[in-house]
Amino acid sequence: MRIFKAVHSPWLLILIPIFASGQSERLRGFLTRDAAAERVLESRAQALPDTTNLRKYLNFLAGAPHYAGSPRSKASAEYIAALLRRWGLDTEIERFDVVMPYPTVRRLEVVGPKRYVARLKEPPVPEDPDSTDLYQLPTYNAYGATGEARAEVVYANFGVPEDYDWLAKQGIDVKGKIVLTRYGKSWRGIKPKVAEEHGALACLIYSDPHEDGYYEGDVYPKGPMRPPDGVQRGSVLDMTLYPGDPTTPGWASDRDARRLPLSEAKTVMKIPVLPISYADAEPILAQLAGPLVPRDWRGALPVTYHAGPGAAVVHIKTDYDWTVKPVFDVIATIPGGAVPDQWVLAGNHHDAWVNGADDPVSGVVALLETARSLSTLQKTGWKPKRTIKFAFWDAEEFGLIGSTEWVEKHQDELRQKAVAYLNSDNTGRGWLNVGGSHTLEEFVTEVADSLLQPGTNASLAQYAVHHPSPAETEPPNAKDGTFALSALGAGSDFQGFLDYLGIASLNEGFEGQTKSGIYHSVYDSIFWYSHFSDSSQVDGRALAQFTATALLRLSNCSLLPFEFGRFVRTVGRYADEVQRAAEVGGHKLDLSGIRRQLEVLENTSQNYEALLEVTVAKPALHPVRLEEFNRKLIETERALTRPEGLPNRPWYKHQIYAPGFYTGYAVKTLPGIREAVEMKDWKLAQQQAATVEHCLEDMNVVVSEATSQMSGL
Ligand SMILES: [Zn+2]
Repeated sequence: MRIFKAVHSPWLLILIPIFASGQSERLRGFLTRDAAAERVLESRAQALPDTTNLRKYLNFLAGAPHYAGSPRSKASAEYIAALLRRWGLDTEIERFDVVMPYPTVRRLEVVGPKRYVARLKEPPVPEDPDSTDLYQLPTYNAYGATGEARAEVVYANFGVPEDYDWLAKQGIDVKGKIVLTRYGKSWRGIKPKVAEEHGALACLIYSDPHEDGYYEGDVYPKGPMRPPDGVQRGSVLDMTLYPGDPTTPGWASDRDARRLPLSEAKTVMKIPVLPISYADAEPILAQLAGPLVPRDWRGALPVTYHAGPGAAVVHIKTDYDWTVKPVFDVIATIPGGAVPDQWVLAGNHHDAWVNGADDPVSGVVALLETARSLSTLQKTGWKPKRTIKFAFWDAEEFGLIGSTEWVEKHQDELRQKAVAYLNSDNTGRGWLNVGGSHTLEEFVTEVADSLLQPGTNASLAQYAVHHPSPAETEPPNAKDGTFALSALGAGSDFQGFLDYLGIASLNEGFEGQTKSGIYHSVYDSIFWYSHFSDSSQVDGRALAQFTATALLRLSNCSLLPFEFGRFVRTVGRYADEVQRAAEVGGHKLDLSGIRRQLEVLENTSQNYEALLEVTVAKPALHPVRLEEFNRKLIETERALTRPEGLPNRPWYKHQIYAPGFYTGYAVKTLPGIREAVEMKDWKLAQQQAATVEHCLEDMNVVVSEATSQMSGL
């Protein structure tokens, strides 16, 4: 952990005035007159989340395996719904029927030279009572193909395209072979996809101790890291094409829904895939011949890492129960008073691979306390201006299914009404990390500045800018010494809202001090979470307070708190990056159209801010015109989408943020241009630049219309 330096940092000069003088007078989107009352309301809400409750919900929800489609997942939904109803919230459970495979056959053996039968099982740990729970879902990768193969093995490192370039240089072809890859660097679904593209017969994905095992720390139960037989389950659905039920792309999986035949579902893998532990991977790696792999391909197992092919020959066989299974989303509503047709939403998934104390229950319990806090305010007669919806999604783990189907079902209404979507998922110990739409960066900073980091006198924002972002692939929290949002790629339920519908979205959680090697294993349990993560639940409580505050502000403010200057600067940086990348590739990309639009937006944004200053000083605003103004502001994020979507993946409509086609989790900003540049398709890159220019032009029209509307408020 870095030392907290309080005196010489430049940001303090910026933040102290906001903190000291701004507390009561200024609150983005609120009339000066209303700000103090809002602060009072917020502090009432912030006093309500309770660590005892967080622990109580955690004990129930993580007390048994509750994978999507299981009776226990339905029981989780019913438990959550019962709590929300007890608190007086209008709550319903929405069911979808989706194709989710459960494993029926999983066989893996090294046929020779030295025979080894893989265990494919995570043994119980005496200290952890949940490690012996019944109904654990076996270790597998959902949406790998039913099939069988027997072939020599090639080790392909992280299994991303450039790894195959190195293999090709050695004259190694994976065609007709079984590829062994390791977890890390890319989202897991990329690995079998790329293996399949190169003609491999099957793909194994193992957890090398270098990434989250003994190389990183003591293994469970002595420490938090992955023990030898620990396995990372997970979906390999090709979500870079589209998430959700693979047989209903773009429409809801209702019980009687039209469905593609499974054989036509493009997101299902065509080759068998299995995740394995490092105990099961070692006998394969130890028997590989062929060239020594490069230094950065080597893991931490006590073997010499060779690329193969051979001498190891492996036999793999997989089969699944591919039937349609029910999933249950829980939706609770606090109806708005003045503007019920503008919605602010917050969600977290409730399904887990096994017990899931960390993923997702730590986030579920925080959101439940947020809901309880706001319902408590509601009972005292408070009514938000706008409608607030809480969502607890099912089947996120299989491919963001519960949220995607819900978004697809309610898409027309959401396009019209949704102001913003706040997502959370697993949350640990550390500091606040938020990713999302940069039009909300100013807003998020202000919210994060109005709450204290547990155990310190620093605000959440101040504390976070002093700490690096835990994910190496993401930009640091602190850009120019101020709190900043990372861009959203993939990995949780915000995708349907942001990527498909163009609803401004955030993803929030605490991280940085929790080390974890139990991801998607049976060891993601109450015992693990209480010993190695947010054991006192104080960071969970801070997350509940943060979400409650953000929801209160978004639902109560007079003028929605979008801001465009930070967006302009961020997109400008993205443009610089892709331009440099093209230059490195030997091409001069013309982004002058984008730059022109950003310049216009920068100017409009300055006028907007100046006018906002005058407007919030008024004693009152015209309610009808105000509603029209806010409706206009909602359109700003929608303007960044195109109905035809990104090249080759029409489901992805947002033109500024998307998960990378070959990176998965990691975001690609200006994805259409950037991926064309990476492929050196200069014509496509230029076309995509024109598309982004048109999006920004549309956004400029909307923002300048909003600015003129503001003068009439
Ligand atoms: Zn999760």
